[in-house]
Amino acid sequence: MSDLTTRFHTGTPQNLEERFAHRATGMVASEIRSLFAVASRPEIVSLAGGMPNLSALPMEMMASVVSDLILTQGQEALQYGSGQGHPKLREQICEVMALEGIRANPDDVVVTTGSQQALDLISRIFIDPGDVILAEAPSYVGALGTFRQYEASVVHVETDNDGMVPESLRQAIKTLRAAGRKIKFLYLIPNYQNPSGVLLPANRRTEILQICRVEEIFVVEDNPYGLLGFDKPSPNAMRAEDSENVIYLGSFSKTISPGLRVGWALVPQSLKDKLVVASESSILCPSNFTQMTISNYLANQPWRDQIASFCEQYKMRRDAMLESLDEYFPKSATWTKPGGGFYVWVTLPPEIDTKAMMPKAIVAKVAYVPGTAFYADGFGTWSMRLSYCHPTPERIREGVKALAGVVNQEISRRGGNLELNS
Ligand code: PMP
Repeated sequence: MSDLTTRFHTGTPQNLEERFAHRATGMVASEIRSLFAVASRPEIVSLAGGMPNLSALPMEMMASVVSDLILTQGQEALQYGSGQGHPKLREQICEVMALEGIRANPDDVVVTTGSQQALDLISRIFIDPGDVILAEAPSYVGALGTFRQYEASVVHVETDNDGMVPESLRQAIKTLRAAGRKIKFLYLIPNYQNPSGVLLPANRRTEILQICRVEEIFVVEDNPYGLLGFDKPSPNAMRAEDSENVIYLGSFSKTISPGLRVGWALVPQSLKDKLVVASESSILCPSNFTQMTISNYLANQPWRDQIASFCEQYKMRRDAMLESLDEYFPKSATWTKPGGGFYVWVTLPPEIDTKAMMPKAIVAKVAYVPGTAFYADGFGTWSMRLSYCHPTPERIREGVKALAGVVNQEISRRGGNLELNS
């Protein structure tokens, strides 16, 4: 073999693990990622993913927004832009947030490539290895993955059907502080939470804000689903009550389109410059093209009606899921009843391992996400997240019925009670 062929021989380099930075240890594919390949097969009813239902988005209208943009503002749209985000869009983002009671200055808004990038930037700014991040139990798998990559230790705080329990938060802070742990922020999703679908009521929002203010812990309020309430608007955002201690994350992924990858962070003034510098080092600037697409869409199209039409679609799907859970699932199972958003959280009898059950569900042509994906500590074995956002109501019924068959079989295999709800 010549020198050249030796040098360019491909394959996994030796001792690769040792050559990685320490933080790369936490960079492992989420349980959801490996699941998606299977769940996206056409014959499977996927109750696994959280993909918005774009069939409700008029594509001709989107095409005309994009082509007008290129023809009339192409020189700007296809150019680099500001690291903080397009000034006009930042003003419009403030108008969108006003719907949830937030009064904000466009100068405190940093546009990001989806709110996922904002989660990454905030983690980069705040987390040293071993720092504690407080999060709901269960919490969003994508945020847990980011926190893990920055070597944080996530401590889950008890939740019930009304979201995080303030007294449990108080206790967790006390215990952690007594053990000398550094708590960097509280991460929570107050509206139609991912994965549980529950809503944090206004009185708990106020109490949690008070606790965190007194304890000098920042609150990261992640709010991609706030405008997707089916019957009534969600309570005011937590940021509406506290502009000093809340880092608010928003996104157009669920109200317009996730493919455009536009989200934002509204931060206390003291954090803005750090966030912009951190973002510039990872992406230089968010895409002018997609920001201006959204900006022109918001300026010229009936976007509030479009959100209402998304909500109608999701409500029908939510109803189909809840009705079929009632009809087919056993009495020993319980589930949340979301008033908006994408997800239902199902709790089965504790002897059922939803991860081990997954291959049987795939054979029955239905997919879900096992509960352990939403915990940093291995909890959640007997829970699962079902999403109703994407399949049609008929497919949802078919999927829930098939899944109930698998669950009932598991329960009877373990000698459990098979009585049905209805
Ligand atoms: N936060 C939560 C709670 C989410 O559910 C998601 C997407 N599923 C995100 C953040 C990231 O969304 P995006 O990057 O598309 O804005």
